Amino acid sequence: MMSIVAVVGRPNVGKSTFFNRLIQRREAIVDAVSGVTRDRHYGKSDWNGKEFSLIDTGGYVKGSDDIFEAEIDKQVELAIDEADAIIFMVDVESGVTGMDEDVAKLLRRSKKPIFLAINKVDAASRVNDALEFYSLGFENQYNISSINGSGTGELLDDLVKAL
Ligand code: GDP
Ligand code: MG
Repeated sequence: MMSIVAVVGRPNVGKSTFFNRLIQRREAIVDAVSGVTRDRHYGKSDWNGKEFSLIDTGGYVKGSDDIFEAEIDKQVELAIDEADAIIFMVDVESGVTGMDEDVAKLLRRSKKPIFLAINKVDAASRVNDALEFYSLGFENQYNISSINGSGTGELLDDLVKAL
């Protein structure tokens, strides 16, 4: 079985930008949980010769903030169930938000390897701002830019080792 990697996090942190950067082709996998497929995009990727399925979550979610939060929680629970590793994405521009803390709390209960990707670290001037994310309590923390690709290599190196 091919390993599954899920990208989770609140809206607008850059999950889809990261996903689109990594995948070579989209997969049409029908999710076992009905009504969930529309919220998820599947793709295939590989790094250092290791292939994996990548899931982008939250794609079509629309509605109030309350609905967002419930949808995100659902995606996180699904990721904890089915993924072999989870990329938890946050946004250095906004800093740590309450929603990030809620997602972190759910993820910390999981035994799956979690990789905290601090996105939008496009320039060295943002590296200091990324330090506050240590408060979320994850050991594997990476400063990345999904737009220019910086830092994504280090993240993927460690990610595929865990698969
Ligand atoms: P999602 O809702 O988590 O899937 O986020 P998107 O991938 O749709 O991105 C949300 C916004 O953040 C878009 O305007 C992206 O262009 C922007 N964005 C994504 N990655 C980066 C990044 O590395 N740096 C910057 N500056 N903007 C980014
Ligand atoms: Mg998206």
